[in-house]
Amino acid sequence: MINPIASETLIEIIYFVASALFVLSLKWMISPVTAKRGVRAGEIGMLLAIAGTLLHHGIVDYKWIAIALTLGTIIGIPLGKVHMTAVPQRTALSHAFGSLCVTLVGTVEFYLRAPHVPPFMMSVLSAEVILGGLTFTGSLMAAGKLQEILPQRPITYKGQNIVNLSLLAVSAGLAVYLVNHPGATYLFPLMVGIPLIFGVMMIIPIGGADMPTVISLLNSYAGLSAAAMGFVLNSKLLIIAGALDGSSGFILSVIMSKAMNRSFTNVLFGAFGQVQPAAAAGQEEKTVRSATAEEAAQILSAANKVVIVPGYGMAVAQAQHKVRELYDALTKRGVDVKFAIHPVAGRMPGHMNVLLAEADIPYDRLHDMDEINGDFPQTDVALIIGANDVTNPAARTDASSPIFGMPILDVDKARTVMVIKRGMSPGFAGIDNPLYYFDRTLMLFGDAKAFVGNIVRELSGGSGH
Ligand code: NDP
Repeated sequence: MINPIASETLIEIIYFVASALFVLSLKWMISPVTAKRGVRAGEIGMLLAIAGTLLHHGIVDYKWIAIALTLGTIIGIPLGKVHMTAVPQRTALSHAFGSLCVTLVGTVEFYLRAPHVPPFMMSVLSAEVILGGLTFTGSLMAAGKLQEILPQRPITYKGQNIVNLSLLAVSAGLAVYLVNHPGATYLFPLMVGIPLIFGVMMIIPIGGADMPTVISLLNSYAGLSAAAMGFVLNSKLLIIAGALDGSSGFILSVIMSKAMNRSFTNVLFGAFGQVQPAAAAGQEEKTVRSATAEEAAQILSAANKVVIVPGYGMAVAQAQHKVRELYDALTKRGVDVKFAIHPVAGRMPGHMNVLLAEADIPYDRLHDMDEINGDFPQTDVALIIGANDVTNPAARTDASSPIFGMPILDVDKARTVMVIKRGMSPGFAGIDNPLYYFDRTLMLFGDAKAFVGNIVRELSGGSGH
């Protein structure tokens, strides 16, 4: 049996290593070259954190812990195997579980300590359960909207923001009262219950299109509530991990909002993502030019420079391996092929990078929007595979467009634009794309995987230039 002081020191060392691994993990995940190492470091850090906690001398019985670990593993394994397009809602579910745990721990800690809770302790406990509670129900709502179990459309009513802010204010008021009168235990359930309602009300007016940004913001709240829990439990590891989670989630939300040229207020209160009736009506009068896989292959093989623009449709169709075959076939013919990656293409940051890396497309062929936009005027063919909003020139030219001001990939400046998509459906923002009606645009109607496969087949029948 190890003596308590020695085991305490061992736990501190384990927690220190785990914390360092969490920091390194975030650092390595910045680049696709080191991302895998970053994931491994995060996994090992989490394993160490759990192991260190299990060594705690305060544990008197492992039975319930074993049951909880088994249940968590049973739920966690299938969650880790979801399709990549479902990762945003899966992430929301993880936040929901995490913040439910934080809220329950906070509740237990309050009732164990009440009525003698010092003001600082009561303040962090309140922050813990308020942030935890609203993140729990908010994340469940966000997951439901993304999984389309709940309606994606924003649901708004008059005075909604006032109702929501009042709920939050009441909860904050109760926290202040409890800091001064921790013996008023009957108020605690109210202080926890109101944020649970607020979480639901906060998400109702936000459209499905903004859910990934909101999930990132909820990630930040979950992190902050975990950091508050760290103060309550006197755990430096939780404070560090929670602060990392809180700040990285916040930074990510800022990056995503910037990439969509939206402010936080607009994301949270803008009711974005409703189909524009005018755009939908206008669509019927205009005509598009379409082409076959054979024609597309001929145009591509005659090109010197091709820029491929992947989007959400490529992810849905799981077309990345066919895209790799297309890249190989064109490169073999001496065509210079690059990939243009918009920061919010797909449904989560880095979505396209991950898919293209999975198909072993060389990293040096992947270019960020700012890097590649200057290349489009010298590009023979911009081949768009399942992308829509991120190529919509209305963002540059139409001040009445809901996405006006959003930085886009300037594909319309290429000599020829080819767009693979199944029909004329809008993208996630629910708006029409004028690019499709341009003279230089050819629509290649079909499923991304099947259509790219057909182009590859056509190319493999021909010869290089
Ligand atoms: P979009 O959602 O704009 O468009 C995707 C297109 O793919 C659709 O128009 C659809 O057209 C087509 N498509 C769907 N399935 C297939 C298929 N099997 N084969 C071929 N095409 C298919 O995607 P983008 O990537 O251009 O834009 C991402 C959107 O998501 C932006 O509005 C962005 O702001 C938003 N967003 C992204 C976030 C992120 O982190 N990445 C975060 C928050 C929001 P059709 O049905 O006709 O085939």
